[in-house]
Amino acid sequence: MALVNENFLKLPGNYLFADIAKKVNTFKITHPKQNIIRLGIGDVTQPLPQASIEAMHKAVDELAHKETFRGYGPEQGYDFLINAIIKNDYAPRGLHFEQSEIFINDGAKSDTGNIGDILAHDNSVGVTDPIYPVYIDSNVMSGRAGDLDSGTGKWSNITYMPCSIENNFIPQIPDKRIDIVYLCYPNNPTGMALKKEELKKWVDYALANDTLILFDAAYEAYIHEEEIPHSIYEIRGAKKCAIEFRSFSKTAGFTGVRCGYTVIPKELTATTLTGEQVQLNQLWNRRQTTKFNGTSYITQRGAEAIYTPEGKEQIAKTIDYYMTNAKIMREGLESAGLKVYGGVNAPYLWVQTPNEAPSWHFFEQMLYEANVVGTPGVGFGPSGEGYIRLTAFGNREDCQEAMKRIKAWL
Ligand code: PLP
Repeated sequence: MALVNENFLKLPGNYLFADIAKKVNTFKITHPKQNIIRLGIGDVTQPLPQASIEAMHKAVDELAHKETFRGYGPEQGYDFLINAIIKNDYAPRGLHFEQSEIFINDGAKSDTGNIGDILAHDNSVGVTDPIYPVYIDSNVMSGRAGDLDSGTGKWSNITYMPCSIENNFIPQIPDKRIDIVYLCYPNNPTGMALKKEELKKWVDYALANDTLILFDAAYEAYIHEEEIPHSIYEIRGAKKCAIEFRSFSKTAGFTGVRCGYTVIPKELTATTLTGEQVQLNQLWNRRQTTKFNGTSYITQRGAEAIYTPEGKEQIAKTIDYYMTNAKIMREGLESAGLKVYGGVNAPYLWVQTPNEAPSWHFFEQMLYEANVVGTPGVGFGPSGEGYIRLTAFGNREDCQEAMKRIKAWL
């Protein structure tokens, strides 16, 4: 008889977006004439950059002819894309990587979830709270998270580092050692970023404690302020303690196309029980060549095209569109008397609910009275209670209209 991985049974259903959908549907049935504006979901709305479209069309044509047809590609990704990444995302910041330190994937979700394959199950784990749920759920699946305390909403083997108004959303360095720490900056859901000196504290902590940092930089392209690092490797020593995840999803509208990459420096090692140092790059390469057969050629050509002069211009324009939305929303919400965080170096606004209203309560009020949908902050972790997340990925007119409605309602 096959036995199941019972860790999966510990996972609560993904109630957050299902619950939101249910509540929105109920509202639609009872208020069929009302027009709802959705600022909850983290998906983009603007089309792909033209440079990527053209590159993908060309790639399809290549596959149509025997002479230029390509079948399986390298599991780690094609050199043309890896070279474009090294040359454009890292070299201008004085960072140098070998081709074999970059792994192309089908998006950051896969690798942030799968990276645990190469790490022992009894490692201790630390996360900032609130958090992108994949980090915790993937550790629950592998048995690393322990048990859920339904009262606090916390897992017994996970250390939570709260990010709230009290610490200006900057997580405190733990007073104990933790084996693996997840950091996501610019952050989803709070929309806040870490300055270089703050990130340096984490790298110093990791180097002193032999901690592995899993650094999710999916929103790197949204950084506007000079003093915010785009890569953890801008901090000296980070190559010895950190893996970085990047994504083309929000950078170039690839949420449906699917492409990202993971950087695992050769200098980065972890230890066996007998104290032997093992390169994580080597283990990940072994894992990928066994379990992953590469991202499609067409997709990788599309991703490569964002590094051409036209591609760069086009993605900058779209990012600017979303960040102008963020500015309009920030100003609109503030003028409605709300306390708003984020939205400067990230496309997310983290809004404190007035009068300490619980997240779900405020969510429902906003739906019924302003017909605007957000995401209740508590869905991202216990420290998200009392906040709501709005995204700037909508259409301009919707953002403007939503602000008018919220202001009139409040
Ligand atoms: N990391 C963070 C913090 C995200 O918010 C998301 C998507 O919303 C992802 C990773 C997943 O990105 P991808 O589309 O590349 O899988």
